[in-house]
Amino acid sequence: MDLEEGGRESSSARSHRLAQAGVLAVLRSGPAVSRAELERALGLSRSAVVKAVDHLLAMGVIGEEPGQSDGGRGRPGRRLVARYPGGTVVGIDFGHDHIAVAIADLDLTVRAEDRTPFPVDDDANAAMGAAAELVADLIDGAGLAAAEQPTICGVGVPGPLDAARRMVSSPTILRNWSGVDLVEELGLRTGLSVVIDNDANLGAIAELHAGAAVSYQNFIYVKASGGVGACVVINGQVLRGHAGAAGEIGHTQLRADGAWCRCGNRGCLETVVSVGQVLEQIGNLYPGVPDLRENLPELAAHPVARKVLAESGRTLGMVLANLCALLDPAALVIGGELVLAGPEFIAGLDESVQRLAQPGRDNQVHVHPAALGIRAELMGSLLIARDAQLATTTG
Ligand SMILES: [Zn+2]
Repeated sequence: MDLEEGGRESSSARSHRLAQAGVLAVLRSGPAVSRAELERALGLSRSAVVKAVDHLLAMGVIGEEPGQSDGGRGRPGRRLVARYPGGTVVGIDFGHDHIAVAIADLDLTVRAEDRTPFPVDDDANAAMGAAAELVADLIDGAGLAAAEQPTICGVGVPGPLDAARRMVSSPTILRNWSGVDLVEELGLRTGLSVVIDNDANLGAIAELHAGAAVSYQNFIYVKASGGVGACVVINGQVLRGHAGAAGEIGHTQLRADGAWCRCGNRGCLETVVSVGQVLEQIGNLYPGVPDLRENLPELAAHPVARKVLAESGRTLGMVLANLCALLDPAALVIGGELVLAGPEFIAGLDESVQRLAQPGRDNQVHVHPAALGIRAELMGSLLIARDAQLATTTG
């Protein structure tokens, strides 16, 4: 570091350091870009970008893609990509009724993954124990060299987390997890350092990084699965709220005299729209089908099931249209198992949003299914683990 008299960093050294950090952040957040694109994205001069890029190339933390040109403006013509050191990270995604785990290289190439049904809401300790066993099996089976062994695990949890993101902050939503220090407990069980976030937040981060939201800075990600959670992204940043509970739209009240919800209130969105509720409604119509959950995509071919899915989509769309009035997102990205059931759910949702959201069709909110499907939350857990790993090695 260039220091002035008195030990302070000089302004030019600080500008260079910030330019490097900016270049690195852009390259690690998405696909290959040119130097000209870096200038525009960061609002920096060409000379500042060239200097930062040259330094990062010399360090080996970024590289040039062979054979591609950014238009031939001077010497540096090739597009730039982030380079990652060897090693792996682990991800765990807890849903309300499943656990998914994965192990990936630091460029997020997945080496192996597993997903199993589990009643996660019932008992935090049992769920953490089961997840640790799945992770141990995955690591054992991955055939890793000693230098590739993971040390960090990213974890997604289907409930609001406190500001320090160590434990569930709500005494009503996911109440059997409330007060458990998840970072410490999962660390003890897995032998890994743990970073943790809400599952919908991780789905949003993954879709922003390499999914349906790559071209949006303002969007809402919705996970419509065993519960309904959302993540609001404003100017590329996750909105967490005062107590980490921003986006818990599953507990938006639709009817004061509706069915009782697991949160203690009545008539919440989740009592009408969730995988469980939709399957119950469809199950009444097709009582002979043995495993409704497994057969959801096939069931969606039946006309009455299609009506149920479309109506569920319209109901969720009404809640999202209200959010659009408040937050003015450019897009809604819809993930979770309900999206697997075919196009009717998304079509119903889109219908409500386009009918109700303002200012109307001339400036409509785009509705997309999650590009990463039901793996979005798991990929997000790998992403935060990777970023934590890089922070330990490159600052
Ligand atoms: Zn509720």
